[in-house]
Amino acid sequence: MTQILDGRIVRDKIAQDLRSKILNLKSRPKLVIIQVGNLPESNTYIRQKVLFGEKIGAIVKHKRFDADITQKILINELLTMNNEPSIHGIIVQLPISKHLDADVVIDTISPQKDVDGLTSTNLKKLWENKTSAIIPATTKGVLTLLDYYKIPIPCKKVVVIGRSSLVGKPTALAFLNRDATVTVCHSETKNLKLETKNADILVIAVGKPNLITKDHVSKNQVVIDVGINVLPPQAKLGVQVQPLLGVVPLQAKPETEPPARRLVGDVDFENVSKVVAAITPVPGGIGPMTVASLFQNLLIAYENQVSK
Ligand code: NAD
Repeated sequence: MTQILDGRIVRDKIAQDLRSKILNLKSRPKLVIIQVGNLPESNTYIRQKVLFGEKIGAIVKHKRFDADITQKILINELLTMNNEPSIHGIIVQLPISKHLDADVVIDTISPQKDVDGLTSTNLKKLWENKTSAIIPATTKGVLTLLDYYKIPIPCKKVVVIGRSSLVGKPTALAFLNRDATVTVCHSETKNLKLETKNADILVIAVGKPNLITKDHVSKNQVVIDVGINVLPPQAKLGVQVQPLLGVVPLQAKPETEPPARRLVGDVDFENVSKVVAAITPVPGGIGPMTVASLFQNLLIAYENQVSK
């Protein structure tokens, strides 16, 4: 029978663990989430981080700036936060306005406070397989989920679909660091099925509903669906559907909030789950793991900054 790799169960266990650790600290770890503009999807995503942070006893401050903020002002704000000892973690909720250079903005965050692990300093550490690397939250979530379900990684053939700096590349690197044999596929890959069918572990981070069908997979595989796509309520699966947005909420909205849009991953879950050995659902797979991993990183950052 196919095993469902439930990210919510693991997230809740991580929350318990973080909560008990934070209770024993001399101060509370503090995360600042920077938002530029007011994208509804970012708001939902941020709300989940705030809720999780509150649940574990961290302080989470959400700082929203106007969409037309200048790069200079934003950078100055970040520099001020870098120098504020009561702040242990800073993240910039992506996407940010197009007139801003996201790479420059992210690289302004002090590497010590970079709990998303996206500054060039932290990515270089991941590249070099340094134990001090802060692993990007989604990547870390993927690995933690596999570890929780005791799915071995060393010597396995891992195929990662997607080569973004946010997910695909760091995930491929992290698997390489865990002694997997890694193939990275992307939009220009000629024969995707040929690559995916040979994987022991298949990780998909693209943002296209139904990209991976039962024809892409084989039995005994582990399928990790990182993609999150928001579909309008009337959209039918089985046809290629364009997601409304790239960066989207991690869980369905509370029942009180219209409209009832649906979240799906990049995998045709219904049919693929009949073939493979294990699979993550969407929602409820990597989404909750990403939030939990972010706060694991916050605790690491806190411990690195606060003397015992
Ligand atoms: P991105 O748009 O930056 O990158 C998408 C990648 O997919 C690109 O590298 C591209 O080459 C590849 N691609 C596009 N079409 C392809 C095709 N037909 N075949 C193979 N590869 C193809 O997106 P991203 O930021 O890496 O995010 C990817 C997905 O993961 C999105 O759905 C996003 O919402 C989701 N995401 C989820 C979480 C989470 O916590 N679960 C976190 C971050 C991102």
